[in-house]
Amino acid sequence: MNFHVLTLFPDMIEAGLHTSVTGRALKNGYIHLSAVNIRDYSKDKHKHVDDYPYGGGAGMVMQPEPIYLAYEDVTQNMEKKPRVVYVTPQGSVFNQSMAEEFSKEEDLIFLCGHYEGVDERILEEIVTDYVSIGDYVLTGGELPAMVMIDAVSRLVPGVLNNEESAEFESFHDNLLEHPQYTRPVEFRGRKVPDVLLSGHHGNIDKWRREQSLKRTLERRPDLIETAILSKEDEKYLKK
Ligand code: SAM
Repeated sequence: MNFHVLTLFPDMIEAGLHTSVTGRALKNGYIHLSAVNIRDYSKDKHKHVDDYPYGGGAGMVMQPEPIYLAYEDVTQNMEKKPRVVYVTPQGSVFNQSMAEEFSKEEDLIFLCGHYEGVDERILEEIVTDYVSIGDYVLTGGELPAMVMIDAVSRLVPGVLNNEESAEFESFHDNLLEHPQYTRPVEFRGRKVPDVLLSGHHGNIDKWRREQSLKRTLERRPDLIETAILSKEDEKYLKK
């Protein structure tokens, strides 16, 4: 899968994603990343990419031309026009099912805004998806783009090894994951639940499922309505 990020801060994208699991995936060729500096496409002699907003008001707005030229360059050899995600606090809030949908694309372009945002006309011209990472305002779109690329990458086959499998994690069935424990058996007086030491896989699975339901009810009750529940789950929830 190929990620293309149109940004004023390509170094931030490169540094953030060339580490840990995404770094390994990039090195092994499961995913590809190009961080494209919008400033390189400015025709202004001082390489300006922003200007004052028409109508007045605070801050600067990113101009459409350099972004369009960067977009044209990135897409020139592509057979079909890829999805272009504008990361914006005004978008739908990113979630696991969006990550799954995006992971099926061959190419995905992210447009990162800065300052007061981006001239509306370039958004109308190239953007297919408006996506936010939450109801707060950041200084730029680089962190949101990295968040989304990280979440999408780990769903690309080969990126995670067996030990890191994404199969039974939070949001699988729309439930939160059960609590996890590792050695030692006792830490500051807190013991690992006996069932996990029992070696009885049936009981362990049942305990984990119940913990998952309990945790979702406590922390994210809004998820339960759309969770995929079995008859056993329903019984547990009625208790
Ligand atoms: N004036 C804009 C508004 O009120 O919607 C906010 C601009 S913000 C300071 C600069 C850029 O950061 C945005 O263009 C967007 O790309 C990015 N950004 C900020 N918060 C974000 C969020 N919660 N999710 C995704 N992108 C965000």
